[in-house]
Amino acid sequence: MFNYLLGLFSNDLAIDLGTASTLIFVKGKGIVINEPSVVAVKRSEGGAKKVLAVGKEAKAMLGKTPGNISAIRPLKDGVIADFEVTEEMLKYFIAKVHNRRLLVRPRIIVGVPSGITQVEMRAVRESAYSAGAGEVYLIEEPMAAAIGAGLPITEPSANMIVDIGGGTSEIAVISLYGIVRAKSLRVGGDKFDEAIVQYIKRKFNLAIGTGVAETIKMEYGLCLPEDEVVMMEIKGSNLVTGIPATIEISSHEIREALNEPLNALVEAIKQVLETTPPELAADMVDKGIVLAGGGALMKNLDVILRDETKLPVTIAEDPLTCVVKGAGKALDDIKLIREVTIPN
Ligand code: ADP
Ligand code: MG
Repeated sequence: MFNYLLGLFSNDLAIDLGTASTLIFVKGKGIVINEPSVVAVKRSEGGAKKVLAVGKEAKAMLGKTPGNISAIRPLKDGVIADFEVTEEMLKYFIAKVHNRRLLVRPRIIVGVPSGITQVEMRAVRESAYSAGAGEVYLIEEPMAAAIGAGLPITEPSANMIVDIGGGTSEIAVISLYGIVRAKSLRVGGDKFDEAIVQYIKRKFNLAIGTGVAETIKMEYGLCLPEDEVVMMEIKGSNLVTGIPATIEISSHEIREALNEPLNALVEAIKQVLETTPPELAADMVDKGIVLAGGGALMKNLDVILRDETKLPVTIAEDPLTCVVKGAGKALDDIKLIREVTIPN
C-alpha cells in the first residue's frame, strides 16, 4: 500500500549527463530539461565558489566573463573534470524538475561514459543522492544510446553504436544486454571545433572563438572531394595586429581542418571492429553501425564512415536524445534495469 502511494507521487528521472548538454526525462512527461552543461561560478577572495547561473544562462557567459567570474563546462575534457561544480549543476537541474512539487525520493538513472572511473562513479551517485534521490542507478551511455535508438540489445546478435558527444565518443558493440567491446575516445565535437580554430589561426593568422568554429562545423560539416566549393566569410581578430578582420575560407579547407579528429574517430571505430568476435562481426555486416549523439548530425559523417568501414551506417532518429530516452526506458523495465545498469 505504501509502495503504491509512493508510486503515485514518485517522479522517477532519467538523466543524460553529457559533456555538452544535460537532458532529463520524466516518465509520462518526456524531456523536461535540455540545457548546456555549463555553470557560471564566481570566486570570492577567500577562494570559495558561488554558483551564479546554470545551463542556458551560464552558456551565454562562456568566454565573456569578467575576472572573478568564470563559465565552466565541468565535464568538458575529462569525464568529470570538476566534481564540485558537476554536483552543483546536477542538483540545480534536479531541483528545477521538482520545482514546488512534492519530492518523494525519486529513483534516478544517470547515463555515464563507459570509460568512467570508480571515483567518478561515486561522485555521480553521491551528487544524485544529495540532490534527493532515493535510489540511484548508473547506465553506460552507449548502452542507453543503443536502447534509445531502438536497437534490439536483448537479442543474441551484435549491434554497434557510436555516440559522438562534445567531449567524448563512445563506441560499443552490444549483444544480449551486455557490452561486448567498447572504447571511450576523448575526441568528440569539441575537438572538431578546436581543429577549425587551429587551422584558421595557422593559415590566416586569425583568432576565432570555439563558438564560431562550432557554427561553421554545424553548417558545413565534412564536405566530400566531389562537392562543389562553397566560400564563406569569417570574422575574428588578426593575431598580429589584434584588429578585427574578415577572411574568406572554402568548405574544402574546413574539411581539411577536420581531418585529424575525423581520422582519430575512424581509427577507433576500426579498432573496435577488428577486435569484435567473428560470430558477432558477421551480424555487423548486415546491421552495420548506428550513429547517435550530436556528432551524428555532422554532414557526411555517415557517408565517410560507410566508405571507411564498408558497413551500413545509419543515423539514429533524434540522435541528441537517444541516451536520455534509453535510460528512461531502462528505468521502466525491472528486467532491463537489473541487466544493464552498473552494479553498485
Ligand atoms: P554530450 O553527450 O557530450 O553532451 P551531445 O550529444 O549533446 O554531447 O553532442 C554535442 C556535440 O554535437 C557538440 O560538439 C555539437 O557541436 C555537436 N553537434 C550538434 N549538432 C550538430 C550538427 N548539426 N552538426 C555537427 N555537429 C553537431
Ligand atoms: Mg552524450
